[in-house]
Amino acid sequence: MRSEPGESVTPGAVEPADATDPALETLRPGQPTPGRPGRAGPGADEGLADPGAVGRRQRHELWMRRALHVAVTGPDGPTPDEGVDDVPVGAVLYGPDGGELAIGRNERELTGDPTAHAEVLALRRAAQRLGRWRLDGCTLVVTLEPCTMCAGAIALARVSTVVFSAWEPKTGAVGSLWDVLRDRRVTHRPEVYAGVLAPESAALLRAFFR
Ligand SMILES: [Zn+2]
Repeated sequence: MRSEPGESVTPGAVEPADATDPALETLRPGQPTPGRPGRAGPGADEGLADPGAVGRRQRHELWMRRALHVAVTGPDGPTPDEGVDDVPVGAVLYGPDGGELAIGRNERELTGDPTAHAEVLALRRAAQRLGRWRLDGCTLVVTLEPCTMCAGAIALARVSTVVFSAWEPKTGAVGSLWDVLRDRRVTHRPEVYAGVLAPESAALLRAFFR
């Protein structure tokens, strides 16, 4: 596993599945790139962080497949408890070295907790594991555009990069209704990549609401 000297690597962090892919060798999640700031929203992907190299897109897709898997299986097993009907949203937090730090699945119904969104759970678990609230250098990968609460939590945790899949026009706060993460008035603005494997995530949600 690659890492910068002095950079903290969590013992036992899961090796990213693509770590041996030479095409992805030079990529580092959370690394600042000269992305053009701009308006986000469905159909406005051009304004998001730069389209990036093919390798980065591959990595994002690989990570999103993991998040989609988490959305379906949850952190604790293949099927959620019977009768629990949580909207399938999954999130995975990757460390600066690309290792998986934590996962979260939407557990609002399961736990009766209004804040138990996938992103918040992943952030909490990652912070717990690292023993600090600052998650700079980390990348949050989530299957649905974050809401205002989650976007706020992402910003407060100083997450460097956010990769999300489907747009959420009703509650999305990363370009749809609001753009909490890239508001020019705030000092910490993570890079955002949107629409990664969006058809897969949309299909998952459609199947749930059918
Ligand atoms: Zn949320």
